Amino acid sequence: MPSSHPNKMDTEAERASSDETRQDAAASTTRPSSSASPDSSFDLDTALAPLRERLVQYLSTPEIERIEEACRFGEHAHRGQFRSSGEPYITHPIAVATTLAGWRLDSQALSAALLHDVMEDTEITKEEIAEQFGKVTADLVDGVSKIGRLEDQSYEDAQAENFRKMLLAMARDVRVILIKLADRLHNMQTLGALRPEKQRRVARETLDIFAPIANRLGLNAVSRELQELSFFHFHPMRYGVLEKALRNARGNRREVVGKILETLRRRLPEVGIDVEVMGREKHIYGIYRKMRDKHLTFSQVFDIYGFRILVKDQPTCYLALGALHGIYKPVPGKFKDYIAIPKANGYQSLHTTLIGPYGTPVEVQIRTHEMHHVAESGVASHWLYKDDQTLDDLQQKTHKWLQSLLELQSASGTSSEFLDHVKVDLFPGEVFVFTPKGKIVGLPRGATAVDFAYAVHTDVGNRCEACRINGEPKPLRTELRNGDQVEIICASHANPNPGWLAYVKSSRARSQIRHYLKLRQSVESTELGEHLLFQALQHLGLPLEQIDAVVWGRFVRGSGAHSKKEIMTDIGLGKRMAAIVARSLIAESESVAGVAKRSFERRKALSPIIIHGSEGVVVQLAKCCCPIPGDSIVGIVRKGQGLTVHISDCRNIGRAHHERDNWIEVEWDHATDSLFEANIRIVTENRRGALARMTAAITAADSDIQNVRIDDDHGLYTPLQFTLHVSNRAHLARIMRSLRRLPEVMRISRIRE
Ligand code: MN
Repeated sequence: MPSSHPNKMDTEAERASSDETRQDAAASTTRPSSSASPDSSFDLDTALAPLRERLVQYLSTPEIERIEEACRFGEHAHRGQFRSSGEPYITHPIAVATTLAGWRLDSQALSAALLHDVMEDTEITKEEIAEQFGKVTADLVDGVSKIGRLEDQSYEDAQAENFRKMLLAMARDVRVILIKLADRLHNMQTLGALRPEKQRRVARETLDIFAPIANRLGLNAVSRELQELSFFHFHPMRYGVLEKALRNARGNRREVVGKILETLRRRLPEVGIDVEVMGREKHIYGIYRKMRDKHLTFSQVFDIYGFRILVKDQPTCYLALGALHGIYKPVPGKFKDYIAIPKANGYQSLHTTLIGPYGTPVEVQIRTHEMHHVAESGVASHWLYKDDQTLDDLQQKTHKWLQSLLELQSASGTSSEFLDHVKVDLFPGEVFVFTPKGKIVGLPRGATAVDFAYAVHTDVGNRCEACRINGEPKPLRTELRNGDQVEIICASHANPNPGWLAYVKSSRARSQIRHYLKLRQSVESTELGEHLLFQALQHLGLPLEQIDAVVWGRFVRGSGAHSKKEIMTDIGLGKRMAAIVARSLIAESESVAGVAKRSFERRKALSPIIIHGSEGVVVQLAKCCCPIPGDSIVGIVRKGQGLTVHISDCRNIGRAHHERDNWIEVEWDHATDSLFEANIRIVTENRRGALARMTAAITAADSDIQNVRIDDDHGLYTPLQFTLHVSNRAHLARIMRSLRRLPEVMRISRIRE
């Protein structure tokens, strides 16, 4: 026992001032305002009871005595310090040690856990600890203390540096990180006592650093709890919403879960497989992450049922899998064998997805009890299940990984650089690629060059036209791989393409593309609306520019819109009829002028709208008749649909007189180089190689096939439908001519309805 370690007032004051920068924020001390004496109701013996209960299960009496001595030493050193919650400080190291005792860590590590904050928060030195408790414990405390404070640097730098220290300490002795993780776990469990902004900072750091490390070490239970707690403090609203949804949905699940459990528990033993079956609860952060990363709704994530099957040995895993596939149909392509190929952190299991009762997807993990221990406690299972042979392999792998980190460290210039390298290893759900200047960019797995472009800058995304990956020109949709160097080629005329939404993976790219398209739609609609109104007014003999602000003002007010622009957009979207707006404007301007100046000249030059084929969302080519340049066309405005271009004799356009009000004059842009879809129908004789000859003829005529439909075989003849890309009528005629020349083609025609 130390003779005396009074807490001097000046160090207390220092501590208070450095409180803000402590990384170990939840452990920050506060002094009670009235006195510096410990809570008189606190009894160390009582506080130690839960820890003692765990220790007696696996340690000898002398070992337990040493640990208790460390506890008394710590209590004395921290006396007068309190947690933000108001409890005596020693309750925190005791909680940390209790977690570690759950993993059955040795007495050196437990002593170190009880002393883990004394070097930092009290006058005690490393030498004193070494003298009292030996060099190993002192080194462990020193290691934990060094992974210390977030000084006044930028968050990113501090984080990188912190991370580096942690990995290095861990590489020397993995127990350091186990203590640190238990420390962080307790801090997260008691985070509520801190100010909200501090809660957020600690929560973010936990999500960024501690949870991934726990996961990499295979401490999945800890990793999950850290994630849940961080998410709760970082996104309290989202957490609350999901928690409520989860609670509501749980009731509906109970019946299905019960039914599946009952079936599995009954049928697997029937085929001679002894199993332990349990339902798996979904974690709120896990649900959130799936929703966010895979763009799923709550029910899409939640409606997947999770089960776990534990069996006695590895061969039985495969037997159980076979039996399971006999009970419920498996979903093809969802089976994963992590037994043959374990994950980097040693995780082993068989994963399969089945189609359960009522067609609900059911995810099942099959593993042995040993695999289960490793899955839940990873590296810590080394201490938990000492006599287990299979763990040697995991130990070696972890050691190798830590060793490789040390090598990386010596090769990296800065902390950030080191962090970048390690991230590749630590976040398997992400890919890390490089900009041409060597800056690293992290993206979700499966991300494409478009995701990369948006990650660099929104403008780069919006203007990207092509890309080079590792110096080679590649399509924008190319999936990126770790370490790729990506260069984006921008063009001032390039615009985001709605088709990108089909393959981008990052939510950033997705939302930016959506935002752009929405904006673009509104701009296009406004331009179209203005054009339509111009036409309609010209038709009535009043030029648009002759309508003054007063008339517009009165009209806008009377129509319930906010602005002239809104009226134009509405017309463009088909929400208002140009002809009606035009008439109202004329009526308005007559009433403003006071006299009827009915001197409107009837339609002069009516300028039609020019169709380029690349207008985007507001102007659409009708799917029924598929007009192509050269066809005589007409534009139809329908409410909420904007302008649709049909062939003038298409059957789907209303011919009644009142419907003709919606007709807009349109004309092809003869210089357009866009490609248009055209459908043709061919009846062929059933001959070997007929389809190949037809597709060759189409390709030879500079077209490509968008789609083929083969209708029912009528014995000798087969009717086919092709959707082709063509430039115009002349091009289509050329293609049809060359098809007609083929001996097997009996009949050929263009489909226009
Ligand atoms: Mn601590």
